[in-house]
Amino acid sequence: MEASKQQHLPAAPERVIIPFIEGDGVGREIMPVCRRVVDHAVAKAYGGKRSLDWTEALAGEKAFNATGNRLPEETMNMFREYPVGIKGPLTTPVGGGVRSLNVALRQTLDLYVCLRPVRWFRGVDSPLKEPQKVNMVVFRENTEDIYAGIEWQQGTPEARKFLQFLTGEMGVTKIRFPETSSFGVKPVSIEGTERLVRAAIKYALKNQLPGVTLVHKGNIMKFTEGGFKNWGYALAEREFARETAEGKLVIKDVIADAFLQNTLLTPEKYSVIATLNLNGDYISDQLAAMVGGIGIAPGANINYESGHAVFEATHGTAPDIAGKNTANPSSLLLSAAMMLEYMGWNQAAALITNAMEKAFIKGEATHDLARFMPKGKSLGTVQFGDKIMNEMD
Ligand code: ATP
Repeated sequence: MEASKQQHLPAAPERVIIPFIEGDGVGREIMPVCRRVVDHAVAKAYGGKRSLDWTEALAGEKAFNATGNRLPEETMNMFREYPVGIKGPLTTPVGGGVRSLNVALRQTLDLYVCLRPVRWFRGVDSPLKEPQKVNMVVFRENTEDIYAGIEWQQGTPEARKFLQFLTGEMGVTKIRFPETSSFGVKPVSIEGTERLVRAAIKYALKNQLPGVTLVHKGNIMKFTEGGFKNWGYALAEREFARETAEGKLVIKDVIADAFLQNTLLTPEKYSVIATLNLNGDYISDQLAAMVGGIGIAPGANINYESGHAVFEATHGTAPDIAGKNTANPSSLLLSAAMMLEYMGWNQAAALITNAMEKAFIKGEATHDLARFMPKGKSLGTVQFGDKIMNEMD
């Protein structure tokens, strides 16, 4: 990825401080396994010349028990100070006043890309006939869209005021049941679109992928989703004209619903996807389900200008299986592999992904995956980690 270009990261740092949040629920099981496997891969790849200095940042229940605060300022400061960090899943308590750490980090560090690579590993069961054709990277916009959280509940004075503004000042007549409607606002900007699409294009060029597909619902939402499409094309023409003329880059677009169908029928047509926040949510989960589900889907939140990147397990705390040594650490492990790639430590990253695939091919995996493998053997979380390390040796 972009790490080598980031000025704040030394060209070849030998010992890098990585703040990590263990996470709640299964986080307590998958993070220690992840750290052990990653350390093993780094040691193996660089023979002791490089290493990670894992520094715990408290958040969630662990932070609450230690400090009375679920999200201590010190944790935020660590993520401000160190450009690359990783986190396990956290519970967001229901009820007012508690800001989710995900939202806090995303907003504070302006992590505008939610990056979700989706590929199939041999040995993993898939509902598709040809899952090997799935190899995509989703760039989901992370700061705008209906996720901006600008909403008013029906029946409140705010909703009434907003309705008055719409009907009185803006001449809106199309609200079917005005008195009982809640309202939400969907901001989509030129800057927000451009930085996301630019990041996707640079990723495609750097990884010699054929191009970027803009996925949108511009046929219905002309100025927001349609704006995203138009501004995306305009940016590509303006900033990547040479690459386009040389045939190194093709930009195309597709309506989101057609895209979801095409991912099942012709997934090989897509490599890098750029899309808005809500579309990106649906798309990344559907794609994950096509290649093994949430236990194996990695993710990261990134700001390519500042270089800040937080890698994470994309699933939740899985309270139903927590404490049983059955959780799949693959999502977090593959996120850690993405982190190593981001740092330019590609060799260590490849050791992890290759070893994982070797285990899957032998039918050895945690129960969520092993139960669907023809001769699957279910391993515990810890034992699966050991297996991956053995496969590296
Ligand atoms: P939260 O409230 O934290 O989002 P959740 O249980 O509602 O937790 P997930 O944690 O995403 O949501 O879990 C959804 C389902 O997937 C659960 O049945 C869970 O056991 C399973 N699951 C999630 N993560 C894993 C994992 N790493 N390994 C195995 N199963 C998992």
